[in-house]
Amino acid sequence: MKKRRKITCPYCGAAAVLREGAYVYGERSKGEMLYVCTNYPACDAYVGVHHGTKRPLGTLADAELRNKRIWAHKLFDRIWQNGLMTRKEAYRWMEYFMGIPKDTGHIANFSDYRCEELMKKCRQILMNHHIELPIGA
Ligand SMILES: [Zn+2]
Repeated sequence: MKKRRKITCPYCGAAAVLREGAYVYGERSKGEMLYVCTNYPACDAYVGVHHGTKRPLGTLADAELRNKRIWAHKLFDRIWQNGLMTRKEAYRWMEYFMGIPKDTGHIANFSDYRCEELMKKCRQILMNHHIELPIGA
């Protein structure tokens, strides 16, 4: 049985369709595939897929949220990359303080609010351990 995946844009409610990255990135495309809102570019919402699949990485995001997710990830990764916790522990810690179920801490699904919360918490813990923040954070 083939499961049809219907993805809706959380901003404008239109359907999202799978397109070549060039549709959004033009010449900067690396051949990736993206789910793009059918109202693009009026509605600037899209999300990538897991390499070689049609599975979206997360929910569609506009420019601001895409940027927040990138920064949240950079700050979060710095915690386990510096050995403050293992990667697995870091995810458990994050899920715990956010009050979300185990194995649901996927930054690609996070809202603006969750990203902010995560960035704040990560900055705090990095600063407490005198670990330099990523440039720009
Ligand atoms: Zn949209």
